Amino acid sequence: MTRAVVVGAGIVGAACAYFLSKAGLDVVVVDRLQAGSGTTSRGEGNLLLSDKEPGPELRLAQLSRSLWLEVGDQLGRDALELEEKGGLVVASDPATLAELGTFAESQAAAGVEVRASEGEDLHRLEPQLSRRLAGGVAYPEDMQLQPVLATAELLHAARRSGAEIRIGPMATGRGTDTAGATTALRTDQGDIGADVIVNATGTWGGQLSRLLGAEIPVLPRRGFILVTEPLPKMIRHKVYSADYVANVASSHTGLETSCVIEGTRGGTVLIGASRERIGFDATLRPEVVRELARRAIELFPFLSEVRLLRVYHGFRPYCPDHRPVIGQDTRAPGVYHACGHEGAGIGLAAATGYLIAQQITGSPLAPELAHDLAAFSPARFHPGRLAEAGVTG
Ligand SMILES: Cc1cc2nc3c(=O)[nH]c(=O)nc-3n(C[C@H](O)[C@H](O)[C@H](O)COP(=O)(O)OP(=O)(O)OC[C@H]3O[C@@H](n4cnc5c(N)ncnc54)[C@H](O)[C@@H]3O)c2cc1C
Repeated sequence: MTRAVVVGAGIVGAACAYFLSKAGLDVVVVDRLQAGSGTTSRGEGNLLLSDKEPGPELRLAQLSRSLWLEVGDQLGRDALELEEKGGLVVASDPATLAELGTFAESQAAAGVEVRASEGEDLHRLEPQLSRRLAGGVAYPEDMQLQPVLATAELLHAARRSGAEIRIGPMATGRGTDTAGATTALRTDQGDIGADVIVNATGTWGGQLSRLLGAEIPVLPRRGFILVTEPLPKMIRHKVYSADYVANVASSHTGLETSCVIEGTRGGTVLIGASRERIGFDATLRPEVVRELARRAIELFPFLSEVRLLRVYHGFRPYCPDHRPVIGQDTRAPGVYHACGHEGAGIGLAAATGYLIAQQITGSPLAPELAHDLAAFSPARFHPGRLAEAGVTG
């Protein structure tokens, strides 16, 4: 039986373990720290179609959405806190609303459900929204889940199918036979026999890739989230400003903020989102907190009366071309990458786990999906192709 060692017990590693063990492989998950304690514990848990432009990543998100619903049906939607709450993207002026409308039309042509909303209709959807907005687009298919619970549930299910979870070992390299095929994952606690290794180490995926002899450029992109005191349900959807999509797609190294707001089942309101490429620097920047709070109050004026409970940060796993790395790396036979999902790793985890399992077991894929895999392939970072993928310096 093929033995797959998944490095990383975040939501992506957990999804890989879930689909691999369901496919009948002998699976070991290894993490140096507790399951779900990496960037997964920092994500807001949105599963979004609304922020994806038509193309491979949107199709991946559409696949992931349907797989998350299946996972929810199998493991219990309540256990994952999976909610089909819908998204609402809002524009502050008519020009931005027109751009948003054009973007939404292109998404509708790609099969996304969209609904333009203005005036009273907008306020029926979100009664507390500022009356100054020009309008918005509703995305009924956007969903939310609780990332740490989802990770735990996927790992429990993988364990029920025979997977082993080892917390503590730090992966340090790859053992090979004389032909170069993978025989083991090297860790600081000894070797673990492996036919394949899945690099699901998120923001640390670049570091591990070097140790495995299959380097890919995954870098940290910091984000702060503000958490309010618990409130009665005031915000029904995931609501965000139209400039969020441009910020996500930008490669700017300096600070960028856009306004992303949603309630949680516990009553707290989560306010994001900032993006900065400053390595693993964890220093709190009060000016970022102020800016996020200011923009949130612009969208939902009642928030000016609400107290903040805490502020936290996380490091998104960023790839220069903003696409995750999913698939086999031919430079190191037996090594598969499943990392670099930046701000969409929660949403894309289910499809990533599914695709990794299909590839490792050699199972057929729908032609369009097979075609899309080239967009996520590690080969785009192989020597000679780095500039094409946006890697400079
Ligand atoms: C502020 C913020 C908000 C976000 N909001 C959303 C959202 O709403 N929706 C969404 O889809 N995404 C969101 N994201 C992004 C999402 O959180 C990540 O893309 C996702 O969690 C990545 O999951 P992962 O499993 O790849 O990585 P991680 O959760 O970081 O897991 C990687 C694991 O690998 C382990 N590891 C690393 N190196 C080694 C090693 N050498 N040996 C052993 N173990 C190792 C780590 O300990 C860690 O547990 C957000 C991110 C941030 C920062």
